[in-house]
Amino acid sequence: MTTNETLLVVNPATGEPITTLPASSADDVAKAAEQARRAHDAGVWSRRPVRERAAVLLRLADLMERDAEMLARLDSEDAGKPITECRTGDVPGAIETIRWFAEAADKVFGRIAPSVPDGLGLMSREPVGVGAAILPWNYPLAMTAWKVGPALAAGNCLLVKPAEATPRSALYLAALAAEAGLPDGVLTVLPGYGSEAGAALARDPLVGALSFTGSTATGRRILKDAADSNFKRVSLEMGGKSPQVLMPDALAYGDELIHNMIEAAFLTMGQNCTAGSRVLVHRSIAEEVLERFTAAARELVIGHPADPRTQIGPLINHAAFDRVAGAVEAARDGGAQIHTGGLPHGLPPRGAYYPPTVITRAPAGSDVLTRELFGPVVTVQTFTTEDEAVRMANATEYGLAASVWTRDLDRAFRLARGIEAGVISVNAYSEGDITTPFGGWKQSGFGGVEKSTNAFEQWTREKAVWIRTR
Ligand code: NAD
Repeated sequence: MTTNETLLVVNPATGEPITTLPASSADDVAKAAEQARRAHDAGVWSRRPVRERAAVLLRLADLMERDAEMLARLDSEDAGKPITECRTGDVPGAIETIRWFAEAADKVFGRIAPSVPDGLGLMSREPVGVGAAILPWNYPLAMTAWKVGPALAAGNCLLVKPAEATPRSALYLAALAAEAGLPDGVLTVLPGYGSEAGAALARDPLVGALSFTGSTATGRRILKDAADSNFKRVSLEMGGKSPQVLMPDALAYGDELIHNMIEAAFLTMGQNCTAGSRVLVHRSIAEEVLERFTAAARELVIGHPADPRTQIGPLINHAAFDRVAGAVEAARDGGAQIHTGGLPHGLPPRGAYYPPTVITRAPAGSDVLTRELFGPVVTVQTFTTEDEAVRMANATEYGLAASVWTRDLDRAFRLARGIEAGVISVNAYSEGDITTPFGGWKQSGFGGVEKSTNAFEQWTREKAVWIRTR
């Protein structure tokens, strides 16, 4: 089936169209998968000596560095992300990811089993063949790099479907990969709609592994499609409702605590899977924390994403605005207190700007406490005992991340153990670095399968070879 649909890429800050691209049809996806399979079978990449594969990926990282400003601009324009965030976070992070996996490529070894004297059991890690990645719009380049790095380093061919709103940085990356010497058919970017191109990837019989980052609802669909097609291996990275837990001694970290809380709550306008959208603070320090936190939130610079001073840009679109505003209004109607500095004058009129907002006394069970709002909105709740803090932290269907603030090491360990989440940071808001695994528990995903050498497990399968020796 071929459709003539197109993708219109719009700048969220201005509402102006940026470009129109052909949207990949289910037919385009099937053809790309066949081409990737042929490239895999021909061995142009999979059988290339691993040091050569690493060299191509290292060249790609160098080219990304050369064109870093362009990559930052593409993500900032497509996603409405503040340009400074793209320049200092997303783009350098993506370059580091590609470089790290290039360097790791030849350091993944197989195993030998402690078998009988006249037998040799070898376990080798082999590429899955054709892999697929389906991506969200909030960290377009960074998420592309998390998939492209390990999938290609392990010798796979990869099909990438960027989010509808943000296809350009992935397309640019693929052009740089070709310039770096990646053979045809090894990396194919398929801009398109989730319901067509995304679903076609999830159902494609040639795709051996699919790595998805996006919402929990879409993850559920993809898993069903994988089951209904070829049981491709699926890994899911989905939403979150992550707590920031502040124990009575947390204020010992002073401005650093407040700065990290602000970053946790409002980075990428809170449109961040690991956003620390629920502050849980010990009653004894709640008043001071609330005062300093809301004051710092009011100081955030709201503006055009292209302005390097901007810290808060627009939400991705007006539907997102309606979702966030609706949940906050419902909380207000239910008796919550809303703390916000509002919006400054002179913002681009068509951007879906929502001000950083802190909510106290949110009604039990309200959407602001339970749903992933994906906006610059954070609730503050108090507790009195450590057990209560853990219970509140875990009172969510999600389990992506958490941060814990205390100088008491025993307590930090107890909390880190007790909180059900895949990524926990102590005395920092952090997802760790490229060496540590990333992934959520519960309805946030399948655990730490991104970053670190764990990522190779997504993109390789183990083969046991039994050799009879005499
Ligand atoms: P989304 O689920 O709407 O879309 C994600 C991708 O899935 C897009 O490329 C979309 O086109 C595609 N898609 C949609 N329907 C599909 C279908 N039926 N079959 C196959 N693909 C389909 O999510 P989004 O709005 O782009 O991103 C926001 C979500 O992503 C949030 O929930 C956020 O928490 C999550 N996220 C998670 C992580 C993580 O690492 N855990 C990182 C970033 C974002």
